[in-house]
Amino acid sequence: MTPNKEERLGNIIDGKFLAEKKREEISQQAGAFLKKYGRQPGLAVVLVGQDPASAIYVRNKKRACEQTGIASFDYHLDETVSQQEILSLIDDLNARAEVDGILVQLPLPSHLVEEEILVRIDPGKDVDGFHPYNLGRLLMGEPTLVPCTPTGIMYMLDEYGVDIDGKDAIIIGRSNIVGKPMAILLMMRHATITICHSHTKDLPERVRSADIVVAATGRPHMVKGDWIKDGAVVIDVGISRTDAGLVGDVEFEEAKKHARLITPVPGGVGPMTITMLLDNTLLAARTHVS
Ligand code: NDP
Repeated sequence: MTPNKEERLGNIIDGKFLAEKKREEISQQAGAFLKKYGRQPGLAVVLVGQDPASAIYVRNKKRACEQTGIASFDYHLDETVSQQEILSLIDDLNARAEVDGILVQLPLPSHLVEEEILVRIDPGKDVDGFHPYNLGRLLMGEPTLVPCTPTGIMYMLDEYGVDIDGKDAIIIGRSNIVGKPMAILLMMRHATITICHSHTKDLPERVRSADIVVAATGRPHMVKGDWIKDGAVVIDVGISRTDAGLVGDVEFEEAKKHARLITPVPGGVGPMTITMLLDNTLLAARTHVS
């Protein structure tokens, strides 16, 4: 059901509301899974070191699991952990039947080789969707575990009834976890996509012509409000900690005057990302029992 946005928040996409709605669905499905298979879907979260932001993310993920009936298994490793020790832990988690999803919280300390660790995760348990196998399947349009932020954004667009087919979509940022999968998902739904990055020329002009703008750079307020075409849909993925608090990539107040729909920071994309992690865990669990 599309939220009645006029009655709620004007043209602001309410990520918290949508996340709650989706979590209720997940909770019901996790309950049905438990009843049928005698166990909860399970998510293992591996945290290395003491990075405060990572610790908050992990705590939020644990809380979200508890809320929705997903078992969480936490591994908090000392920051001096060796590459071999963490690879052994991944092997162990890959083999455990009660673990459906494995998430390694990034960033990792610099002595660890992130790529080798992420590739060690069984692709069937790769609930972040970062494994090359899953990214390859996504590129080929095959069903797979897809990175959580882009799938959360697609969910938001659908819930607000945004027409994607034939629209011009611009994605600012080309990371493997946000920009590239976002572009593929929008292309699969027949948008005409433009991917921009730090070498792109004429960014303002490109944004001005877009029907859908996804900003994922981590550069506070780099997308100016007056770049937004009247009636465009603006999705702000960026999160930057500034003296003024958490801010996104988009100059929100000015952009809001032009956009038909826009996500706030915080309270937009962020809550959906964790929710889609739970959804991926449920999806993986179903695959493991089938
Ligand atoms: P990365 O740092 O991996 O990628 C940033 C991208 O932005 C790069 O492709 C870079 O270009 C591009 N970029 C940087 N500066 C500019 C510029 N001036 N003009 C155009 N493009 C530019 O970041 P992530 O994709 O991992 O994350 C992006 C943001 O989203 C961060 O703020 C992160 O915290 C946030 N995030 C939020 C999530 C949520 O749930 N809300 C989830 C994941 C991320 P180039 O490739 O040329 O360097």
